[in-house]
Amino acid sequence: MKKYLFIDRDGTLVKEPSDFQVDATDKVVFEKEVIPALLKLQELGYTLVMVSNQDGLGTPSFPLETFTPAHELIVNTLESQGIRFEQILICPHKPEDNCECRKPKLGLVHSYLLDQSWDREHSYFIGDRQTDVTMGERMGITPILYQTDKNGWMSIVRQIAGKQRCATVRRTTRETDIEVSVNLDESGHNHFETGLGFFEHMLDQIATHGGISLQVTAHGDLQVDEHHTIEDVGIALGEALLKALGDKRGIGRFGFCLPMDEVYAEVFADKLDDDGVTVALDISGRPHVEFDFKAAFSADKVGTLAVQMVPHFFESLAVAMGLTLHMRVSAGNCHHQVEALFKAFGRALRQALTCQGHELPSSKGTL
Ligand SMILES: [Mg+2]
Ligand SMILES: [Zn+2]
Repeated sequence: MKKYLFIDRDGTLVKEPSDFQVDATDKVVFEKEVIPALLKLQELGYTLVMVSNQDGLGTPSFPLETFTPAHELIVNTLESQGIRFEQILICPHKPEDNCECRKPKLGLVHSYLLDQSWDREHSYFIGDRQTDVTMGERMGITPILYQTDKNGWMSIVRQIAGKQRCATVRRTTRETDIEVSVNLDESGHNHFETGLGFFEHMLDQIATHGGISLQVTAHGDLQVDEHHTIEDVGIALGEALLKALGDKRGIGRFGFCLPMDEVYAEVFADKLDDDGVTVALDISGRPHVEFDFKAAFSADKVGTLAVQMVPHFFESLAVAMGLTLHMRVSAGNCHHQVEALFKAFGRALRQALTCQGHELPSSKGTL
């Protein structure tokens, strides 16, 4: 079924001038990222229709000779970049004309409303005014209020694409065969099959506290020991997280600190005294680990897990994901120590993965 995006022009595709008339070519200024966004939406299978009120068009207050060159510049520029509108629907009337085609009246889209063949559920009306929102509602499709700063084009693309940051990584060596799937934008769909009960319990801490969905299937050479399985899950998880992050735009990037049961965490390792766990991480693209807990573990094993594998797991993950990772845990029950580290890592990860807006959180322009 055909999916449509009905899109307002002024204030949505191009900036609306203070006198509300785009009546000269030097008044044509495109909205931020409108072109890549529309290309992406076309790629997703959307057909575009422009729907615009142009008050008094063709009258002395807004003669066609001033409208047309600016309008053609808009349409031709978009078209030169591969963006095509199936129709461009314009109401030329003034409010006092009381016509049937001025948004949010439905006259302009009458033929679309008669046509039952297109997909209402996945079609949208996008515009910068309340009248656009009303129009979408009246058409029985989802309205999206365009706001340059708060709900810009890339944000709309994410909204429409339902873009979820997902990735699957398969890693097969002579020692292990591992598949890791992550979804950074949903939680609660976790599944683990590694043959290592306590390790699965720890992976579950990362997923639960990281606010992500995580599935891990690992067939490793456990007849040797758990070393390769844990290391390779760490690598595959790091790769999957990195892949799911995509261009990293909008992410929090940094994660640190949390209070937790009987232990606590602080951001600054040098302020940490006796009881506590500290995890600070940065999705920096520069793998670096600082661990300060090897000596503090109070046992060699937790369940079947050799505790020395804990730093090895996090190091493998950090290198694969490009993390700067600092972890520290105080003395205490060893199960608690290990669990606290995984929980704290999950919480720090949750902060760093959180996506808001579209900016790249780096003054260098790369991560
Ligand atoms: Mg508008
Ligand atoms: Zn009209």
